[in-house]
Amino acid sequence: MNRPLVIKFGGTSVGSGAAFLRAASIAAEAARNRPVAVVVSAMAGTTDALLGLARTSSVPAREGSQDHLLHTLSERHSGAARKAVPARLLSGVEDRIRNIIERLAEAANATLEDPAARRDEIGSFGERLSAEILADAIAGFGTPAAVAPGDPIATDGRFGDAGVLAVETRRRAQKYLHPLLNEGTVAVIPGYFGRGPDGAVTTLGRGGSDLSATVIGRALGAEEVWILSDVDGVLDADPRLIPDAALIPRLSYREAGQFAALGAEVLHPRTTAPAAEARIEVRVASTFNPGSLGTRISDREGGPGVRSVALRRGLSLTHVSPETAGDGVFCCLGADAEGIRALVDGAGVAAVVCVGAPTDGDLISGLRSLHNANIRPLYAGNTSTGLLFAVAESKAEVALRALHSALTPAGAPAEMEEVA
Ligand code: ADP
Ligand code: ASP
Ligand code: MG
Repeated sequence: MNRPLVIKFGGTSVGSGAAFLRAASIAAEAARNRPVAVVVSAMAGTTDALLGLARTSSVPAREGSQDHLLHTLSERHSGAARKAVPARLLSGVEDRIRNIIERLAEAANATLEDPAARRDEIGSFGERLSAEILADAIAGFGTPAAVAPGDPIATDGRFGDAGVLAVETRRRAQKYLHPLLNEGTVAVIPGYFGRGPDGAVTTLGRGGSDLSATVIGRALGAEEVWILSDVDGVLDADPRLIPDAALIPRLSYREAGQFAALGAEVLHPRTTAPAAEARIEVRVASTFNPGSLGTRISDREGGPGVRSVALRRGLSLTHVSPETAGDGVFCCLGADAEGIRALVDGAGVAAVVCVGAPTDGDLISGLRSLHNANIRPLYAGNTSTGLLFAVAESKAEVALRALHSALTPAGAPAEMEEVA
C-alpha cells in the first residue's frame, strides 16, 4: 500500500451542506492517487452548543431547552445531509443521525458522577454526526468511504486535554483503519477525541481535531497531513487583529509549534509534535481556495528572521522566587538581585512575541518601530518563546501592528530586511 494521506477538515469546512460537498470532492479527488484517511471536526458552532448542553443537568426544568437543542442539532445535520448526500444513501445517513442524536440524549440524561467525563462524552457527538455525513458525501462521488469504527485514538484518560498514547494508537489504527484503507475505502475519523484506558471518551482540548490529524498521520506512517480550514494557511499574525496578515509559505515544526503554543488558533498547540516525531510534512491550506498552496510545515529551518508575531494579553511584570514560581509564569526575563523577572498571568501588560529566528537587527528594528509609534517597551529581548516586547496592555494592538509591519518579511520594507 502507498503511504496514505491524512486530510483534516475544520468546522467551517463542514459548516453547511455545500461545504460538506466541497470537502467530499477534495477527499474523493485525493483518493484517486493514494489511500486517504479523513479527520473531521464538528459542524461550526456544534461543539459550543454541546458543551452548553453538558453544563445543564437533566433536571425537569431544563428538559424543554435540552429537547430544543437536540431538535435543532438533528435538523441542522439532516438538512446538511440532504444537500450533500445522494438520494440513494440518504435514508441510511438519516437513520444514523437519528441514532446518534438518541445516544446523545441518553448521555445528556445520564447522571455521570464526574462532570469532566460528562463534558467529554457529550462534546464528542458533533464529530460523530459530521463524520457520518462526510463519509456518505464522499461515497456520492463514487469513492468508497466509511466512518472508521472503534474511536482509534488511544489516550491517557485525562478529560478535557488528554495525552495521546502513540503505541496503542498505532495498534488501534492497524485494527480499525488499515482494513478500510487496504480495500481502497476512505476512512473517515471523527476528530477531537479518543478513548482512555478504561474506554471513556476523552477530548484533546478545544481545536483538538488538528492534533487528531497528526496523531492519525503518525499512526499510519502517512506521507503527508493536510489541515484544511477557512484561511489560506498559517498567516504571519492573527488576521482578526492584523487584516493584512500575510501567508507564510514555509515553517519549521519548531516555528509552527511555538506560534501555535502562543495561541495562533489555526493550529491546536500540540499539532506539530506527532508530525515532527514521524517527520511527516503538514500542509495548512484552505478548503475554499484550491489555488493557494498554503503553508508547508517540515523539519526544514528557514534562514534568520522573524516569521510571525503573536500577542498575549493579561500579564503582569513582576519578580518571582525560585521557591514559589510555578503555574501562571508565562515567561522568565532573567534574574537580578530581587529574584527572577517574569511575566505572569495578571493584568496591565501585553507581550508581542516574534517567532522564527530573530536576529539582533530585529531587536533594533522592533525597538525603532515602537519608538516611532510612541510606545515605551517595559521589556525587550530574546526569551525562550521568541523575541519578546512587553508593553502596557492599552498599547497592545498598536504595538502588534508596528512590530508586524517592521519585522515580518511581508511587512518589512526592503532596507529593514537588510538591517536584519
Ligand atoms: P477550523 O475550524 O478549520 O479548525 P479554526 O477556527 O480553528 O478553524 O482556525 C482558523 C481560524 O484561526 C481562522 O479563521 C483565523 O481567524 C484564526 N487565526 C488566528 N491566528 C491565525 C493565524 N496566525 N493564521 C491563520 N489563522 C489564524
Ligand atoms: N469541534 C472541536 C472544537 O470546536 C474540535 C475542533 O474543532 O478541532 O473545539
Ligand atoms: Mg481549529
